[in-house]
Amino acid sequence: MDCSSSIAPAPALAPTPEPACASATAYVGRFAPSPTGPLHSGSLVAALASWLDAKANGGQWLVRIEDVDTPRCIPGAAELILQQLAQCAMHSDGPVLRQSERSAQYQAALDALITQGMAYPCGCSRKEIEAAQSKQLARHSAAIYPGTCRPSPYGKGLQGKAARAWRLNIQAVSDQHHLLAKTEWCDARLGPQQENVATEIGDFVLRRADGLWAYQLAVVVDDAWQGITHVVRGADLCDNTARQILLQRALGLPTPHYCHTPLVLAADGEKLSKQNGAQALDLAHPLRALNAAAAHLGLSAKTCPVPQALLQWTAQWVALGSSQWPAHGSALRQAL
Ligand SMILES: [Zn+2]
Repeated sequence: MDCSSSIAPAPALAPTPEPACASATAYVGRFAPSPTGPLHSGSLVAALASWLDAKANGGQWLVRIEDVDTPRCIPGAAELILQQLAQCAMHSDGPVLRQSERSAQYQAALDALITQGMAYPCGCSRKEIEAAQSKQLARHSAAIYPGTCRPSPYGKGLQGKAARAWRLNIQAVSDQHHLLAKTEWCDARLGPQQENVATEIGDFVLRRADGLWAYQLAVVVDDAWQGITHVVRGADLCDNTARQILLQRALGLPTPHYCHTPLVLAADGEKLSKQNGAQALDLAHPLRALNAAAAHLGLSAKTCPVPQALLQWTAQWVALGSSQWPAHGSALRQAL
């Protein structure tokens, strides 16, 4: 499969507001951490990979704080993450965007989908959905939604229930945009990918029952607004990609290129996280932390100051190519 031609950017339906970070630069990448705690060795891999890929391509690298899920955010964590990145000599090439300040833009996107019949209110409780389908999915996912509240002509609507959340009507999106059942894309490291979102996830939530914006909607709106052309992020987020591409199609937004970096695994074989013992980066030794992250990406260790190390890794990144990355970085696992 020719990865370079697998994703054709969709034309915009309507002019979008001029983004703060608009640029003529062909490549715009981003690092988008959730401020649920400080960076650890796993999240630094995604930060470094996205930074190197942007710089290796002569592009811009933007930082976005994904604090849309406010109950999970820890006060001060965003500032700490930015401080950690600065300690590693990685600075956003534009203003840092915070999702908690973007509610109006998310509402505008939802309104557009409602107007075009591609979003509908759902009155189901979590228990009702889980009772209908109990399969649990990974991060940022929920039980498969069986389409209970889908409106006519696709279903029977709320049937007297009060609206709780808003969902994307995948069938309506597919009909209006003539999409195939399977969403296909090509990951720069993982190769061809596909997912049938309708059967594997169902009509997913855009605005949650608690009033918070869903991760998928916020990411898609912000990636487009920031002009992101390349998304380099951890492989744990790979299974969000098909949903995000569907939303891009629905909103008439371009689809960026995707590359998912190898995860750092904890001793139990699970993705490294705060829950299984990930330690915050040691700010006193940024080169040590960066060397571990670089090793995970197949790059050699450096002993020079951090800015020079980043320059050398950037050159190495070009030579190495993402296809050379280890599927599961053992180097960093051993270093933990
Ligand atoms: Zn429902």
